[in-house]
Amino acid sequence: MKVGNLVGLVGWRGMVGSVLMDRMQAEGDFALIEPIFFSTSNAGGTAPAQAKNETTLRDAFDIAALKRCDIIITAQGGDYTSEVFPKLRAAGWTGHWIDAASTLRMADDAIIVLDPVNLPVIQSALLKGGKNWIGGNCTVSCMLMGVGALYKAGLVEWMTTMTYQAASGGGAQHMRELLTQFGTLNAEVRTLLDDPKSAILEIDRKVLAKQQSLCAAETANFGVPLGGSLIPWIDKDMGIGKQPDEAGWGVSREDWKGGAETNKILGQGAGFGSAATPVDGFCVRVGAMRCHSQALTFKLRRDVPTADIEAMIAADNEWVKVVPNNREATIKDLTPVAVTGTMTIPVGRIRKLAMGPDYVGAFTVGDQLLWGAAEPLRRMLRILLNA
Ligand code: NAP
Repeated sequence: MKVGNLVGLVGWRGMVGSVLMDRMQAEGDFALIEPIFFSTSNAGGTAPAQAKNETTLRDAFDIAALKRCDIIITAQGGDYTSEVFPKLRAAGWTGHWIDAASTLRMADDAIIVLDPVNLPVIQSALLKGGKNWIGGNCTVSCMLMGVGALYKAGLVEWMTTMTYQAASGGGAQHMRELLTQFGTLNAEVRTLLDDPKSAILEIDRKVLAKQQSLCAAETANFGVPLGGSLIPWIDKDMGIGKQPDEAGWGVSREDWKGGAETNKILGQGAGFGSAATPVDGFCVRVGAMRCHSQALTFKLRRDVPTADIEAMIAADNEWVKVVPNNREATIKDLTPVAVTGTMTIPVGRIRKLAMGPDYVGAFTVGDQLLWGAAEPLRRMLRILLNA
């Protein structure tokens, strides 16, 4: 059935929302829709330039106004979804809900959307009347954009991920906090840095003393210093109340998403009546700005030549790029600084590991606000408009 083009946008001025608006503008999406802009804080205000007939911001909690929409795209956040989505469905709304928040991701009637990887899963759900389309965890989406080919080929027996996740994953305030910490630490030793003869251990001692004495306001978002450090735990503790060795004990919610969402995106595991691929590892926050990176270890089902693996990955989609596994190419092309703001998903360091010929390592980087958040949402909009 043809989907109408009255599209409600909620959360469009936030961090993910702003990137989404930019991408929709760049790809000409607004030419295909009649947008209605909603706000949780400024109902009655002026809608952004992309508005057509609806030039006033609507109240994002007004169920009657939301009900008019054929499609709603929200990047407002999980609290908003928890509050509004059930009321909207209870009020009889049968439109399509496209959401950046994790709230509904694992619901039975929700599909995690990443169409270059799981278009068949999306199409099958559409045929069955699916209406809830949720963007995946940023790290998982970026990883699958890079190495989804190996899963599609049925080659992966299991995979571990060790992530290096940017401050932006926590939101705008987290990025500001990281940069402010860098500035504070630099200021602490600036005179010593300006003097080429100063002792590095003296600089190091002063930086450490400053890091350890940052006040609560200076670490309000991450809880501990991130500038010049790292934090090997992201999101909630899934293991509370569990015993050591019990499944889930000592697992962070971000660690857990790696396995749960990878399998759900691929349309495999318990909910699909098939075996899940074990995916597990440690998620680590580092002082990068907005690209998530990850080191991957694959146990393949069979020995596949490295050149074939590279060819498979390179041919999977138009955004993935294999970076030759040498020093020069790696330090130039396989970093957050090289990738931020681009749609490219580089995959490099692809090589056989010492454990045996069917153990393969790789490293990948992705802009978590683009493929990790905004892009799958606007592409789902296009799929619906073309349905
Ligand atoms: P955000 O930047 O905090 O924006 C959320 C809302 O905050 C905005 O829509 C806006 O709502 C309000 N807001 C208040 N003050 C603002 C200001 N000064 N500037 C802009 N907006 C302001 O949240 P986000 O990081 O985009 O995340 C949105 C959702 O996407 C969350 O569910 C998150 O989990 C999910 N997500 C985030 C990422 C990420 O990398 N951050 C990645 C994937 C998914 P009003 O206009 O209604 O006031």
